[in-house]
Amino acid sequence: MAILTKDNVSSLSARISRTLIGKPHRRDEMIAFLKNHFRYDTMNSWNLSTSYAANVKLYKLDWPSNDLEARAYDFLDIEEAYFGIKRLFSAFAKSHDYRWQANFNGRSSGYIVLYQGKCEATDYKTRCDLCGTLTWYATEQACKVRGCNGTLLLLEEPAYQISVLLGKSTDENEDFAEWDDYDLGQRIGLVWEFDELIRACEKEYITFVTNHAVVEKGVMVPRTIRIAEPVVKRGLAHSITKP
Ligand SMILES: [Zn+2]
Repeated sequence: MAILTKDNVSSLSARISRTLIGKPHRRDEMIAFLKNHFRYDTMNSWNLSTSYAANVKLYKLDWPSNDLEARAYDFLDIEEAYFGIKRLFSAFAKSHDYRWQANFNGRSSGYIVLYQGKCEATDYKTRCDLCGTLTWYATEQACKVRGCNGTLLLLEEPAYQISVLLGKSTDENEDFAEWDDYDLGQRIGLVWEFDELIRACEKEYITFVTNHAVVEKGVMVPRTIRIAEPVVKRGLAHSITKP
């Protein structure tokens, strides 16, 4: 029988509440949902800015079996295991015009946080067709990056820059009682969608671990090493080689 610790009791109750209660519609339910939602730092704890978040440490996920959960630790440093999640993050951000974005935070990326962000048109004029560097040169010419043989080509449409407002908190100490019904409903929609994203990420990761095995592969990596060689003194070398 599983031992119920404080952590897994709260995770269990969170799971039950999200399956039984459903999306809140009454005003008091909406306010309670937003006020009680799990939050985490957007940067560091000393930065004091927090936002809606989810604890996604492996033991918090809804693993179909203990074996699978144990196997999951092998995947923590496997980059491919996160490609699906990154795709889900991108789709979420895009659907919110990048004003809302989800990303990992915390030591060992144990949390997913809802960030504010933006996507702005830049005034770059050209982009290198080889290294991708954006520049303000207004005519097509050779790339200026050292060692790059590419050409700066004129951009056909503006280049956009996507950024995350890391230090910006969301609804920190917010008095939701002062919000009108429309704004409250909008915020519920956003946070509910964020929670659904978390569940999709959880499912994605569990599916990945189920369908993959970690294998170790030796790869040839050229590297420069430093070694110590005995100094051969000219006179000595001469005397040795002399017949
Ligand atoms: Zn270049």
